[in-house]
Amino acid sequence: MNINIKRFNKQNHKNQIIQTFSVTKRNLLQALNEIKVSCDASLSYRCGCKSGVCGSCAVRVNGVETLACKTIIKENDLVEPLKNREVIRDIVVDVSHETLLIKKSNAYIQENSQASISQNDIKLIDTQSNCILCNACYSSCPVYEVNKEFLGPFALTRALRYINDKKVLDNSSIVASVQDKGIWDCTLCSACTFVCPQGIDPKADILQLQNISVQKGHQNPNFSNFDSGIDFGNDDFGFNPNGGF
Ligand code: SF4
Ligand code: SF4
Repeated sequence: MNINIKRFNKQNHKNQIIQTFSVTKRNLLQALNEIKVSCDASLSYRCGCKSGVCGSCAVRVNGVETLACKTIIKENDLVEPLKNREVIRDIVVDVSHETLLIKKSNAYIQENSQASISQNDIKLIDTQSNCILCNACYSSCPVYEVNKEFLGPFALTRALRYINDKKVLDNSSIVASVQDKGIWDCTLCSACTFVCPQGIDPKADILQLQNISVQKGHQNPNFSNFDSGIDFGNDDFGFNPNGGF
């Protein structure tokens, strides 16, 4: 079977090229290992646990983000690096933005509440805690594609996880930190939800963050300047909206 791999060598400043390899393995990570061992030792890719736990082998296959270790390939599949990050070499991308995003979203325990934790409390943060930092969601996000200042799906999902964590003494700084270039910039397109290998639903988490934010007195800045063009002055509709019933 043949697979196509988009390759790039930063040191040589060469453009990305697509190279075709013949492989016998059907699991993508095993096929990459096969190429490296028996055909081209210079092929570069990331892998760690080989069992879908570490998130390091995320790539795109035919344009869709996936973990190489969990992917069965077909004839002529195209394997590419994740989008929206700088390519270091072949299908290895720079993922150093993670630390920056965690700092920006304040999504960690700043002061421990010392509260005792029940099974129900754990359930509340269980799904979001399963994020493996694979970056698939950032690769798929159309907002992050055009605005690298956008906090993006993983950071926002992580923010919700810590807002709901009883160990956090005061979550207001986390809520405040996701307002600007965060929850209100998301188009709720679901692309991140579609590609997450952990079954996390960043879009739903962002909606929850919007609800929590409104309850805490924040508002959508896109609506604060919104002018409908309709004059709701005193008698337009035959009643005074401030008059009560
Ligand atoms: S739902 Fe929001 S965060 Fe997720 S991919 Fe779409 S714009 Fe990005
Ligand atoms: S939210 Fe899902 S897709 Fe995004 S980094 Fe975490 S595990 Fe990967």
